Formats: sequence, structure tokens, C-alpha cells
Amino acid sequence: TVFARGLRKSFGDRVVLDSIDLDVVCGQIVCVIGPSGSGKSTLLRCINGLEEVDRGVLRVNGEDLGFRETATSYRARKRKEVAAQRSRIGMVFQSFNLFPNMTARQNVMSGPVLVKGKPKAEAARRADALLASVGLEGHGGHYPWQLSGGQQQRVAIARSLAMDPNVMLFDEPTSALDPERVGEVLAVMKDLAERGMTMLIATHEMGFAKEVADTVMFMDGGLVVEQGAPKDVLCNPKERRTQKFLESVL
Ligand code: ATP
Ligand code: MG
Repeated sequence: TVFARGLRKSFGDRVVLDSIDLDVVCGQIVCVIGPSGSGKSTLLRCINGLEEVDRGVLRVNGEDLGFRETATSYRARKRKEVAAQRSRIGMVFQSFNLFPNMTARQNVMSGPVLVKGKPKAEAARRADALLASVGLEGHGGHYPWQLSGGQQQRVAIARSLAMDPNVMLFDEPTSALDPERVGEVLAVMKDLAERGMTMLIATHEMGFAKEVADTVMFMDGGLVVEQGAPKDVLCNPKERRTQKFLESVL
């Protein structure tokens, strides 16, 4: 579903992603770990089309989002492709990014109604079902400020799912939460994984990565230092930089 080879991204003359190779196969869970500034968010933003890559091959759901020599017409076409593509990719951020003036139900319905032109009644029914699936039955009428952080993040997940994505990107979805709220969000993500969702997750939750990931990728300084099965990368890392990082977080 996500295929990347030799991706590079720089801001000015600062290279923040270099030679990134990544595969997220349908139904797989890939967790990205690494210190602050290693490029995790930038990688997710490139995959979501929020950032343009400088170089390399990037295919998401079979569509080419990578770098090509950019004729103006190509750029215009690409922008359209990116917009279409983005609705097939769900993204959940560290800060929940809900619309503050909308109820949970309205947040979840907004994409289907505004982007896909779905009838409101149908979208509202679906929103309630999605809210129930993330453990928020009966919370549809609550505004974000009436919900805890963990509840808000679960609304954000339901809102992403409402667009029927075939891959979900998570950027440290639990790091803004109170410790006692982390588990409920991870449980929803685990449930999604068990239902076969393809997911790419930047996380500091090593226990979760160990339990749920098919592949763990350790990044440092914009490079993929090591990737493989969680039991190898997390329990028996080959690279010194991975060892040091794991010592610092455990
Ligand atoms: P964290 O764990 O703190 O979220 P991260 O691994 O997600 O870190 P990124 O946010 O991807 O790291 O940042 C990678 C590098 O790119 C950092 O050095 C950051 O300062 C730089 N960077 C990110 N976005 C921009 C931008 N829009 N303009 C310039 N530099 C940027
Ligand atoms: Mg980040």
C-alpha cells in the first residue's frame, strides 16, 4: 500500500529524510520509532502529500506521489492526484485537531458530507456507528471540550475512518495524553489492527510496538538505521544507535 525507495526531503539545505526505503503492505502494521527530530513526522507528512519529496519513488495505494522533473502541467495534475489520494489516507495527529465548534458526531460526519457529498442522515448514522466502534456510544452530541483527551483522540480516529481510508497514519497519537488515557487509545488502534487495517504509526510506546507491529523501523538523523521484526529491532538491536535509543527510553 505504501512503497518508498530512496526518498529524500530537505528544508532549505537541511536534509531531514535521506535514502528512505519503506514498505507497508496491505494489512500490515509498521511502527516508526526514533528520537525527536529524526524525521518521523516529516516522513508521514510526505506519505500523506502534505510535503513534497525532493527525490525518490513514493507510491501510495498504487499512485505515484514521488518526485519527477516538474513541468508546470505535471505539478497541476499532481496536485489534483494528491487531493484525491489524500482521502484514501487517514491521518491522526498528536494534538487531536478536532473542529472545536462541532460535536463529536458532526466532526465524524464532516468529511463524508462536505468532501464526498453524502446525505446528512446517512452520514450521521454512520458517524454514530463509528463512534460506538471506538467506545464512544452515546457521546455523539458532546463537544470536544466536554471530552477527555483520550476520548477526543478516539473521535479523531473515528473521523479518519469515516473517509474509508485504506491506510491509516498515526503521528504519536498518545503522546499528548495523560498516562491513564493512553491505554484506551492504544486499545482502539489494536482493535483496528486486528480488523486488518493497514497502519503506519510513529510512536514512543515500545510495548505497543512490540505487541502489534509486523515491522519496526528505527530512524535517526533522517536515516532508517534499522528495520525488522519487533523482536529483533526492539529486543535484540544490531546497531549501536538503536541500542542507545532503546536504553534511553526504557
Ligand atoms: P518528534 O519526535 O519531536 O516529533 P520527528 O522525528 O517527528 O520528531 P520531524 O518533525 O520530522 O521529527 O523533524 C525532522 C527535522 O526536520 C527536524 O530537525 C525539524 O526541525 C525539521 N523540520 C520539520 N519540519 C520543518 C519545516 N517545515 N521547515 C524546516 N524544518 C523542518
Ligand atoms: Mg514528530
